[in-house]
Amino acid sequence: MAESVTFKNFIGGKWVPAESGETFQNVNPADRDDIIGEFPASGPADVENAVEAAKNAFEGWRKTPAPRRGEIIFRAGELMKARKEEIARAMTREMGKVLKEARGDTQEGIDTAYIHGAEGRRLHGFSAPCEMPNKAGWTVRVPIGVAGLITPWNFPLAIPTWKSFPALVSGNTVVFKPASDVPHCGDLFAEILSEAGVPAGVFNLVHGGGGSVGTAIVKHPDTRVISFTGSSEVGRGINATGGQMLKRVSLELGGKNAQAVMDDADLDLALEAVLWGAFGTTGQRCTATSRLILHKKIKDEFISRLLEATRKLKLGNGLDETSEVGPLINPEQVKSVHGWVEIARKEGAKVICGGEPSTEGSLRKGNFYKPTLLDGVTPGMRVAREEIFGPVLSILECDSIDNAIEILNGTDYGLSASLFTNDVRNSFRAMEDVESGIVYINAPTIGAECHFPFGGVKQTGNGHREGAHPIYEVYTEWKTIYVDYSGSLQKAQIDNQ
Ligand code: NAD
Repeated sequence: MAESVTFKNFIGGKWVPAESGETFQNVNPADRDDIIGEFPASGPADVENAVEAAKNAFEGWRKTPAPRRGEIIFRAGELMKARKEEIARAMTREMGKVLKEARGDTQEGIDTAYIHGAEGRRLHGFSAPCEMPNKAGWTVRVPIGVAGLITPWNFPLAIPTWKSFPALVSGNTVVFKPASDVPHCGDLFAEILSEAGVPAGVFNLVHGGGGSVGTAIVKHPDTRVISFTGSSEVGRGINATGGQMLKRVSLELGGKNAQAVMDDADLDLALEAVLWGAFGTTGQRCTATSRLILHKKIKDEFISRLLEATRKLKLGNGLDETSEVGPLINPEQVKSVHGWVEIARKEGAKVICGGEPSTEGSLRKGNFYKPTLLDGVTPGMRVAREEIFGPVLSILECDSIDNAIEILNGTDYGLSASLFTNDVRNSFRAMEDVESGIVYINAPTIGAECHFPFGGVKQTGNGHREGAHPIYEVYTEWKTIYVDYSGSLQKAQIDNQ
């Protein structure tokens, strides 16, 4: 068992304990005897200190030329690259995802640093001709102020980088709260930003629970932009508070993603895809494949192959390179996932694989749940409509592309959708009619690239996107500048009547 270490918040460039001196313990989800450390159980007083530090640092950071800010972020990418294996191992130990996925999560952070580092040299505004002679007009993007960033536990590095890098390159200062199941990755991230040259107070890290630290960040009058990734339930509350306070609020919320497989599809490829989409990250992805919609002509054959492949998946500690499926994040999540399986049974679905926690041998020390297949699910069932966030796949039947699209669209969410077909007409029908932020043709529902917009429709968010250029709409204000060099008072519209 590793020795327990005490970690701190990072406020105003210094590592400090919570004002209360209280801590919470963080353990390895694959082995609850492995204690990662004690982290500050912060509260509103710590958030106050962090916001104060961020406010004080804003003026200097805002005036730092954007290309210089971008260079610092680029350097953070270089440091993450140099420490990739160390970060990935810390992530697997803390969050549970298997090592190759933790390396992928870290790589996404590195890629995100490179794209936003370069963005420091763009941050484009635009100019246009003015209505009046001897007058010029153009626009610039300006930072908003202090950004409050709140993230979930399933992507401990990638999601914090998606938010922090564009916020910082834009010239905002940051108060960041990672999920309390992954505080160590938050610490490593703060360490890297500091080493890369982010000045004291520009990036502040406050550990603690959602109800204490998260709420205090959202309610603080000086956090003018809030970016949140997490559950729809919490997001709705944040939107209500932020709306009342006229803050800019960006929300990336839940999903109930489906992969549809038509009778003309490449079934080998579709099988590989659904195994990865449903059971990668143990189903704990907002883009996880939670529903499989099979054309009735291939349904029986596909299910028998899926059953065989699912039974073979190797559960285990993600630090063991041979493990294919890691643990769930915590014991509550095991209970929650099992609760959904019970609901499925009551609704009349058939559990054809898994359906229970995995407690064989050393697995009993962790939060393992067997990859689960539910057959006979119909579109009205709760397990066909609501997010489960675990290794549980609901299987539904369709009889045409129209029927597949109707089922695909039959939830309140709209993040990622996938269609397997070799018919170009089916592909284009799906691209046009599927209600989701991301559509994959012949690829699984998971696997976004950081230079494309990421986000969803309906209850998955509030219309913003992470990634690529649209993210700068979240972190900047437009300023329009006019210069009249005519030497006379020109009145737009009035002079032009
Ligand atoms: P969660 O909503 O419970 O928590 C997310 C974060 O919000 C955590 O840091 C938590 O401490 C904090 N929080 C909790 N209550 C809060 C409150 N009242 N005020 C402010 N902050 C609060 O979600 P989770 O369990 O950490 O993550 C799983 C959820 O996140 C799933 O619904 C998943 O679909 C979603 N998710 C979405 C995306 C996306 O991009 N759409 C990506 C990853 C995860």
